[in-house]
Amino acid sequence: MDKQSSLVERFLRYVKIDTQSDEESGRHPSTDKQRDLADLLVTELKDLGLDVDYDEKNCYVYAYLPPNGSDTDLGFISHMDTSPAVSGKDVKPHFIHSYDGKDDILDPADFPELKEHIGEDLIRTDGTTLLGADDKAGIAEIMEMLSFFKSNPDVTHHGIAVAFTPDEEIGEGTANFDLSRFHATQAYTVDGGKFGILEYECFNAAMATVEIKGKCVHTGSAKGIMINASLVANEFINLMPEDETPETTEGYEGFYYLDSIRSDCENAKMQFLIRDHDLERFEARKEFMKDAAFTINERYGSELLSISIEDQYPNMAMYLKDHMDLIERAQEAIRHAGGIPSVEPIRGGTDGAILSSRGLPCPNLPTGGYNYHSRYEYASVPEMQKTLETIIKLARPD
Ligand SMILES: [Zn+2]
Repeated sequence: MDKQSSLVERFLRYVKIDTQSDEESGRHPSTDKQRDLADLLVTELKDLGLDVDYDEKNCYVYAYLPPNGSDTDLGFISHMDTSPAVSGKDVKPHFIHSYDGKDDILDPADFPELKEHIGEDLIRTDGTTLLGADDKAGIAEIMEMLSFFKSNPDVTHHGIAVAFTPDEEIGEGTANFDLSRFHATQAYTVDGGKFGILEYECFNAAMATVEIKGKCVHTGSAKGIMINASLVANEFINLMPEDETPETTEGYEGFYYLDSIRSDCENAKMQFLIRDHDLERFEARKEFMKDAAFTINERYGSELLSISIEDQYPNMAMYLKDHMDLIERAQEAIRHAGGIPSVEPIRGGTDGAILSSRGLPCPNLPTGGYNYHSRYEYASVPEMQKTLETIIKLARPD
């Protein structure tokens, strides 16, 4: 076996540290073990000679490498935690030299995308845990970039701000992100998957709560009197378009998702998620639901159904439209690293969306990792290498 690259060594070092977050804990950070990786990163950043600002209480690691021949700053952000969905304890990374399509765990019959990786070096798990390429591949790439600039002082670069955050996987990665400690006004999250794919559009998101007051009387004498809230809930659901659900849509197609329903004869309560990339269609979806509520109330001649709709997060594209240079530069950097850039919409939200709405425009770069949140998670070594080349290029002024 030839000597592994320092990028791979770094990645293997990080994935062995269990940093699973926990949505139940109610604490910040949600688990103390995330500090184990934060501590290591602080040490490594200091060893590299960087200016480190460790928010120990909240478990955020900020660092800054002053510019060298440039007068701008640029940021890179990755998260330290791994998904609560699959264990991240005792990860035993397994290095596959020149993947040939025959592997106990990575079978192209299950994951057709693997055919594109034949001949590549891959890293997977032993099949009992996740790998943690999400997002330790991103962390390793950022750290390796810093190390590159430190050991090549003749290479010009922007001021580079980095942040490593906890609890992204439970939607709290930006809860205590302190923008005043982050020395850049533009940044990228390095938290995507397949190399080449850039993400800067997410859903517009809202939650609709539908409540129904029924009229419950004895079933024996209910004729003409009873209004069964459960059945009214069913009527409402039937007014919703069948082919606009998560399981029937993809790409830029929005949907309504019935997230929960609790009902008996007297009361029913449903929660729907409304999602659409397009702001106009998003607003139209909200109106559609209000119209459906109106239809039901008309049918019964009373206000038995009420609906309230609350916005959750906006499409980050809205905040990026004045910063399209970030996208163009990323596309150019991906090409420079030998990739074909493509823009794909995120069918969800990201920490970058929240940071963008708080004034830090933040599109998402790939990492070279695949099958996230699963025992089949793997990383493509050449794609990690290309991501590293991409962010080095981005951090350079020319
Ligand atoms: Zn992630």
